[in-house]
Amino acid sequence: MIINTDNDLIQTYGSPPSRSIEDITEIVIHHTAGGGSWRGLKSWFTSKTCERKDQFKRFIGFTHYYIEKNGTIFQPFNLDSWMYHSCSGKHDKKTIGIELIHNTGEFPEEQIDALVNLVEHIYKTCPIMQIVSHDYNYMYYSGKAKGCPSKWFNWSEFESKLEEKGIKPVIKSFSGA
Ligand SMILES: [Zn+2]
Repeated sequence: MIINTDNDLIQTYGSPPSRSIEDITEIVIHHTAGGGSWRGLKSWFTSKTCERKDQFKRFIGFTHYYIEKNGTIFQPFNLDSWMYHSCSGKHDKKTIGIELIHNTGEFPEEQIDALVNLVEHIYKTCPIMQIVSHDYNYMYYSGKAKGCPSKWFNWSEFESKLEEKGIKPVIKSFSGA
């Protein structure tokens, strides 16, 4: 598995607040609700006219990883830094955010396999206790949901692929939209 690190968001917004790897206990799965590529997403993140720039400056809405439909993984932020991405406030200090670039329809197998490999890698590095949907945290901490990572994400397929790798994850897959 190749993880492509990319420093462009740090060059634009600076480094997010730091944390210790031992404090990371949760993985949050997102989808972008938009198609395209990491390159396209990044050019929006970093454009001068980006309408969410004020949020991004406060590290609201970024995740650690982005996975394209073909399974290519990009990492703009190190795991020893944290950002707000799951509508759970400071709880995100304990989480890793993974964004699947996806709008609608079935997720390609390449993308899910890359996610599974990435999660396996994270399990080797961090004391993960559970994997949740963005909607799970949004509902648990803020009483709302937005349909992330969408009804198309197949949690049971994801779980069985992890089990094939010897990982028995605790999954909270609430979907509110
Ligand atoms: Zn999300």
